Amino acid sequence: MAKSPKATTSRRPTRKPRARSAAVPPSADIEDLAPSGVLAGPTSAAPALRSGLLRWYDAHRRDLPWRFPAAPGREGREKRAYAVWVSEVMLQQTRVPVVIDYYSRWMARWPTVETLAAATQEEVNEMWAGLGYYRRARFLLEGAKQIAEKGEFPSTASTLRQVRGIGDYTAGAIASIAFNEVTPLVDGNVVRVISRLFAIADNPKESSTVKRFWELAGQLVDPSRPGDFNQAMMELGATLCSKTKPDCSQCPVSSHCQALVLSHENPLIGVTDYPRVVPKAKPRSDFAAVCVVQIEQGLEQEMAAGKCNFFLLIKRPEEGLLAGLWEFPSVLVDECKTDPLNRRKEMDRYLKRLVDIDVEQKSNLVLREDVGQHVHVFSHIRLTMHVELMVLKIKGDMGQVCNKGRDSTKLKLVDESSIDSMGLTSGIRKVYNMVKAFKEKKLSEQTQMPTKKRNRRQKQ
Ligand code: SF4
Repeated sequence: MAKSPKATTSRRPTRKPRARSAAVPPSADIEDLAPSGVLAGPTSAAPALRSGLLRWYDAHRRDLPWRFPAAPGREGREKRAYAVWVSEVMLQQTRVPVVIDYYSRWMARWPTVETLAAATQEEVNEMWAGLGYYRRARFLLEGAKQIAEKGEFPSTASTLRQVRGIGDYTAGAIASIAFNEVTPLVDGNVVRVISRLFAIADNPKESSTVKRFWELAGQLVDPSRPGDFNQAMMELGATLCSKTKPDCSQCPVSSHCQALVLSHENPLIGVTDYPRVVPKAKPRSDFAAVCVVQIEQGLEQEMAAGKCNFFLLIKRPEEGLLAGLWEFPSVLVDECKTDPLNRRKEMDRYLKRLVDIDVEQKSNLVLREDVGQHVHVFSHIRLTMHVELMVLKIKGDMGQVCNKGRDSTKLKLVDESSIDSMGLTSGIRKVYNMVKAFKEKKLSEQTQMPTKKRNRRQKQ
């Protein structure tokens, strides 16, 4: 009897799960899949699966802003291709309801690939702020420039793959949905559906398994409606065939589902055993000292009204994590050196080197306090940020602060109202909000304090 991936793994940890080998021959494709009479052959099972899935998709598909019919002609198809491209890249980042909002704003600003090509990286980053993984936004812009320069949107999966940032999945999506090429696509949802349809228990991250998913998806794709078929597979994975609670009783392809058959035959097997869950590698732990430098300038009254507060932002290097994005001054510190004294020492050195701010000149320093910690988890890094607020008072020309730095193009001062509305990465936005809440708390404590005590404290 076939074993579930879970059961097999626990008994023989060093061996691969064998559920698939019992249910599906290793070299099986859709033409061969006939155990238990589930998929009966190329002429009957595949067409039945396709038509069942497409019928369901026609009746139940979600109405989404990027799912519009292409207008006739090349221009209409290219517009559709651009919409598919932008939406698919965003969908790789987050959930559909969030994407709808980002997509709508993006399209209102850059309705065509040519308008996007004319944008700056800064503008694109601002629009992308909050979606994370900014490399995708950079590639979207670089790809748009490449296409605009060529004067034509590539229309096949193989030519689309030559565009910066377009990989196999996005190429398959654009080619099939916008240009009707009979080509498959495989994303996380499709992996789930195919793993279950074919009861594939192999590690879904292994390259041989990934290749197999692509082969099977290629054999399944509908020759007359490839784009709709691919979207239907993704839709099924995103809705009925969900990770933890698949609704098999409503599934349009349940009669073809090997995992369902196995689950009926063996109570130890569940459809959710497919695909095999592969434990994620533990993210690396990094630690950073982050200093929100607030610079005050001008008259006391104006400062009190918050009109003259500026924040120092630094541009990250053009390569690596959060490449080219603006952040508050940050330095990585060793885990064993995250104590306040050491963090401040590191930060002072950094500020002196970068902007020629000498924190030790106490006359400039109005306040310096630890605000707290914020942990931001990237795909492979768990970054603990130790945040402090430093308020400095500058007399004279504010521009001097940036101009004195080693590279003034990498520094900028942003006033309070602009920072509220600018596109910051979600980690930096959280740090800023922490500082804001800290200042508000401090202010309310001060206003509640009797005047004498307050004056005495201010003099200290
Ligand atoms: S029958 Fe269930 S497990 Fe199989 S494809 Fe449909 S929803 Fe997924």
